[in-house]
Amino acid sequence: MAKGQRSVGSAKSEIVAALPKACASDLAAVEFFETRRWGKTGPCCPRCGDTDVYKMTDRKTGQRNKRFLWMCNGCKKQYTVRVGTVLEESLIPLRHWAYAFWAGAASKKGVSSMQIQRMTGLTYKSALFMMHRVRFAMAEDYRALPKLTGTVEADEAYVGGKPRYKQAAKGPAPGWLDRKTPVVSLVERGGNIRSFVTADVTAANVGRILEENVSRESHLMTDSAPIYARTGITKRFARHGMTDHRKGEYAKPDGTHSNTVESAFSLLKRGIYGTFHNVSRKHLHRYVAEFDFRWNARKIDDGARTELAIRRGEGKRLRYRAPVATLPPTPAQGRPF
Ligand SMILES: [Zn+2]
Repeated sequence: MAKGQRSVGSAKSEIVAALPKACASDLAAVEFFETRRWGKTGPCCPRCGDTDVYKMTDRKTGQRNKRFLWMCNGCKKQYTVRVGTVLEESLIPLRHWAYAFWAGAASKKGVSSMQIQRMTGLTYKSALFMMHRVRFAMAEDYRALPKLTGTVEADEAYVGGKPRYKQAAKGPAPGWLDRKTPVVSLVERGGNIRSFVTADVTAANVGRILEENVSRESHLMTDSAPIYARTGITKRFARHGMTDHRKGEYAKPDGTHSNTVESAFSLLKRGIYGTFHNVSRKHLHRYVAEFDFRWNARKIDDGARTELAIRRGEGKRLRYRAPVATLPPTPAQGRPF
């Protein structure tokens, strides 16, 4: 084969190849989730961790049990691949979950619940339920990770809220900013992003987000907004560079700019306005977690990203009735999933 030429399908990962089947049959979906979660070797009991387990079979047919149950010889309890993940307590067939994870991991600007509803034939409520759990699976607890380091760009954007088209022609309506929710993002150049939904862009809030997520040795880069230029919250970092957008300055010859974080925001905004149309303040943190996830997993292919999202769902359960989910809220995000 000539250099640079690929045979059809050769670039597809094994996971990408398995996804269409997983979205079409319940057995394929169950096996897909089992392989993604436990790998090809040793599925272990989600309750006691024992690896002495077996697949339960139907006595008459000898096929897998209808509910795809496993039995653990350690704790003598039955379980399925859903137990101990965001899929627990859901009756939605796993083939729909496979589609939801795939679509969420592979769509650059996100996938709406309306789209999932159309593709799966589920109700809008079920589609929304699935996508919020997919987002919860994707969410990372940043407090458990080392702080960002090297060159770190910080910026804030105002998103969400219902646009008022009549007013738009005349410029922002009074109170325009009140309806929008601030998101503060930090991007390590060449590395990861961390975004936080915050109540207000104040020195206390932004200062705390920086303190908790950026190492002191970092070279911080921001625009010249008063929060960075005047409040002193940037003083604790080794270096701080600013560009002044009002003077038309977007990048300095020494490499000072905040273009990386701004391109992350433009992706988020295009997703919020183009895909989701309307995101309430209450749910914004979920969408932000979804966009952070895709940014941070940008170097792997769609299949590996789908698997990563599924694996992240391990040990997490999203309950709307109980006030606090298994994953504690980050102080900056301020509320649980
Ligand atoms: Zn067990």
